[in-house]
Amino acid sequence: MPRHDSDEPRASGEATAGDPAVGICLDCRWVRVQPTTRGARFYRCARADRDARYLRYPPLPVRHCDGFESRAR
Ligand code: SF4
Repeated sequence: MPRHDSDEPRASGEATAGDPAVGICLDCRWVRVQPTTRGARFYRCARADRDARYLRYPPLPVRHCDGFESRAR
């Protein structure tokens, strides 16, 4: 997967399963959701910790990602 544009955190408000503002990261086992005191959430990609092809904070929404792995597995 090509790297996204930025490593800066991207926040989203209260997200629910399937939230189009977040995209597929919501259902990925590699996402780490970090709530803020202001009620927003940052979505950090844990794959980025070991793989330079991924950004720690991918621009949202993520619609396609070669690193996606379903949480349901
Ligand atoms: S691997 Fe891809 S889909 Fe999964 S959290 Fe990271 S950027 Fe999102």
